[in-house]
Amino acid sequence: MTKYVIEPAPPASLPIRGSNKRFPVRRVYCVGRNYAAHTIEMGGDPDREVPFFFQKNPDNLVTGGADFPYPDKSNDVHHEIEMIVALHKGGANIPLETALDHVWGYGVGLDMTRRDLQGQCKEKRHPWEIGKAFDHSVPASDLVPASEIGHPANGAIWLKVNGEMRQQGDLNHMIWKVPEMIAYLSGLFTLAPGDLILSGTPSGVGPVKRGDELEGHVDGVGDLHCKVV
Ligand code: MN
Repeated sequence: MTKYVIEPAPPASLPIRGSNKRFPVRRVYCVGRNYAAHTIEMGGDPDREVPFFFQKNPDNLVTGGADFPYPDKSNDVHHEIEMIVALHKGGANIPLETALDHVWGYGVGLDMTRRDLQGQCKEKRHPWEIGKAFDHSVPASDLVPASEIGHPANGAIWLKVNGEMRQQGDLNHMIWKVPEMIAYLSGLFTLAPGDLILSGTPSGVGPVKRGDELEGHVDGVGDLHCKVV
């Protein structure tokens, strides 16, 4: 048995709806600017830019409806509601035609963003981690298996803050559909079981404050509740 000089951290994981088993998480990939209306609100041009990827950390996940602690070093933390894609098979250069076979299931997640720090990073051409990959930056719902719900390609995705609709879109507005993001991403990184992909956010992103109740939804997938504290 391998001996470690310090106690290794247990793997990050997500609960599974209706099960006492959990989904172990290896990596968290995120797609940027994957809905045209959001690309436009961020100052981009969806006809000239392709979506792109960045990563968050598995231990940034917040599960089981736990609170989201407002992070330090920011006065402009934004919500981004996204569908989570969870992979149970990996590979490199996965063909488009078989990409969905790699998906175990789906969930609802928030790509919480320190927008002010992200803005500084963009300006200085620095990497995005301080704006994106901070502690607790990925509140997530329980996952549901594709064997139960299939592979949702259309349906509403929305986020309410204190009961008021803030973000609204449809999964079929994604620029890169789920098979395309798996195929493309697997050309850049060897994907593996346990990888998550946050598939991008529709328009309407905006700031949160302590005390806000966030309620996210993806048709056919589920709901996410999270309080900012
Ligand atoms: Mn995002």
